[in-house]
Amino acid sequence: MTQQDIRTKLVHAGERRGLPEAQPVATPIYASATFTYESMADIDQVFSGEKQGFIYTRYGNPTTAALEEAVRAVEEGATACAYATGMAAVHAALLACDLRSGSTVLASQDVYGATTSLLNSILVNFGVKTVHVDFSDLDTVRAKARELRPQVLIAETISNPLLKVCDIEACVQIAHENGARLIVDNTFASPYLCQPLKLGADMVVHSATKYLSGHADAMGGLVISRDEMDAPALFSVMKLVGGVLGVWEAHEILRGLKTLALRMERQCENASKLASYLKENRKIGRVHYPGQGALVSIELSDDTRDAAFRFMDGLKMCVRSTSLGDVFTSVLHPATASHRDLLPARRRELGIVDSLVRISVGIESIDDIIADIEQALA
Ligand code: PLP
Repeated sequence: MTQQDIRTKLVHAGERRGLPEAQPVATPIYASATFTYESMADIDQVFSGEKQGFIYTRYGNPTTAALEEAVRAVEEGATACAYATGMAAVHAALLACDLRSGSTVLASQDVYGATTSLLNSILVNFGVKTVHVDFSDLDTVRAKARELRPQVLIAETISNPLLKVCDIEACVQIAHENGARLIVDNTFASPYLCQPLKLGADMVVHSATKYLSGHADAMGGLVISRDEMDAPALFSVMKLVGGVLGVWEAHEILRGLKTLALRMERQCENASKLASYLKENRKIGRVHYPGQGALVSIELSDDTRDAAFRFMDGLKMCVRSTSLGDVFTSVLHPATASHRDLLPARRRELGIVDSLVRISVGIESIDDIIADIEQALA
């Protein structure tokens, strides 16, 4: 080949070199939107599915595929698909259950606020009806499922912010008796504490932004299904709606997964000690702690928004943050954050009082966490 011009070299030099013989021990970030092959025949075979390979990152990418495989293995599913956020994953799971005009969804009244809004302000416009019930009242769930014959039941393993634990096996039975599929948002428990597919759920959703990544530096979502048959539908939503997980985020989440067990062990132990401490404190009216997990919600004796704000403003180490599941302890005020859009009467009905504060317990020393909370309460 003749000597190339500097303008050509700047674009091509050093690119597309073959992989060295050495295997990288950590999955590299394949920051490439597209992939090339030796010949058009190869590309044609990859497009047709005769040959495995990557073509275009919206259809799949090696870094993202490594994360999908890791989460599939951990949740013990048949297939997994990654999306840009937890909400993109919730949306994909619902669409992959073949919702269409005339379908009904039976949803826990406690599902994440944006999931409720997705159902009631977007999917409703496409003819999908949603009915919300209290999933801790299984008789009502059963009766509503018989009456409505929903296509999908959707619930969360541990509800936000009152931390009610879902009886997944009972919900599986109700769903399947009535020809419905059960989607479980497992974000609050993480696969370290619960694997809903093993209990019979059909699909699991994660906001990977939370415990899976664990460091508040990446957003992402995953859907894992027990049935390989869901793979084409999940893939189609990824490819055609286009809410694809970025490769940098896939790498961050894959790295986060490696320490999930260590983080969860410490966070759950800290949460248990914190809950015991809080139950003894006279400034606390009520402690919500299900005996497992790394979240604790508290109601103050002075049940006002001002008291909650004073407590939260008084914290010096714990972070005021609208997320959870991070290595640091963080606090959130549901009445003005996750449940802000509800009418006050509806909030009260759901038990979300003005002084409620949700604490996501981190990996710090429990003594420092308690000391910070104690001084803020004082
Ligand atoms: N599901 C639950 C239980 C959540 O708490 C959240 C976010 O807080 C989501 C889904 C949505 O996740 P993301 O913010 O990554 O879109």
